[in-house]
Amino acid sequence: MILKTSTVKSKVPQGSNAVLIKNLYLSCDPYMRWRMSKPNPQSYSTSFTPGSVINGYGVGKVVDSGHPDFKAGDLVSGVTGWEEYSLVPTPEALIKIKDTDIPLSNYTGILGMPGLTAYAGFHEVCSPKKGETVYVSAASGAVGQLVGQFAKFMGCYVVGSAGSKEKVDLLKEKFGFDDAFNYKEEQDLSAALKRCFPEGIDIYFENVGGRMLDAVLLNMKLFGRIAVCGMISQYNLTQPEGVHNLFCLISKRLKMQGFLELDYKHTYPQFLEVVIQYIREKKLVYYEDVAQGLENAPAALVGLFSGRNVGKQLASSKGE
Ligand code: NDP
Repeated sequence: MILKTSTVKSKVPQGSNAVLIKNLYLSCDPYMRWRMSKPNPQSYSTSFTPGSVINGYGVGKVVDSGHPDFKAGDLVSGVTGWEEYSLVPTPEALIKIKDTDIPLSNYTGILGMPGLTAYAGFHEVCSPKKGETVYVSAASGAVGQLVGQFAKFMGCYVVGSAGSKEKVDLLKEKFGFDDAFNYKEEQDLSAALKRCFPEGIDIYFENVGGRMLDAVLLNMKLFGRIAVCGMISQYNLTQPEGVHNLFCLISKRLKMQGFLELDYKHTYPQFLEVVIQYIREKKLVYYEDVAQGLENAPAALVGLFSGRNVGKQLASSKGE
């Protein structure tokens, strides 16, 4: 992984359509781990090229522009590099940030890719109804904390799991989950779920995979839905774990659907309108974990896989 820490600003080359941005916030996301593996035809994203600057979602400020739609001073979000300044050759893919009364860092999370994942994944894939029971794994993270709150807005009974007491307390006391448990302290995950959902689970928002998914399958209600958002417990394994209880899909007539945030990109403007309003009304609680400085971004990314982050992990880039 290469990080450029040069503070030298270059200019956009004459005649180019590119924009030069000063990166302000860089998003640390679990999918970036896949991109560090060899190219895989099953993956939906390309692998990083060894020796190149890694790229990912971020927020920046335009400092020079060869594109008629962008000018110096514009704030933008989109794919950028893990470096202080990035020359973006296709600025059409950047989104201009108009609502600047919201903290800019929020555009890497609640108002960015993880936010849309939570919003579309819950509302479109889970087909929730008032009064249903909802379980969210990795519940205190970027996506999970929002899914839980959207589910509460719908009038659902919501339980989350996370990997520390601090996170479990957050789920119950700040994010409004009805109940929560520390999965690391449970010998028998299925028994923990049975305790929280004696009548079973209508909706499972899957972020973790592996033995968690197996335990959930045993506790789903008839005609339940599983939205497969991610399987973070598998990303560092050379050989993914097997799932043993898939027969429950048949016996319980379950629907299990994977999805990508990319599928819902067209809904971003509408999503932004709704969620910005929630933020302004202080209806949503949102936790961020900000690593200070580009040089601390790699450790922050690695920390996602041991649960070091509390809330959405990002890194701030120092400077102007
Ligand atoms: P988080 O902010 O939730 O950070 C990752 C968290 O996962 C960690 O804090 C840790 O929390 C938990 N975790 C790490 N390793 C394990 C493990 N082995 N078993 C159980 N939990 C683990 O990340 P995001 O909210 O950004 O992402 C959550 C999931 O959503 C990921 O699987 C990601 O790949 C997926 N995703 C999918 C998208 C899509 O388009 N489908 C888009 C965005 C994200 P803890 O302390 O609780 O263990």
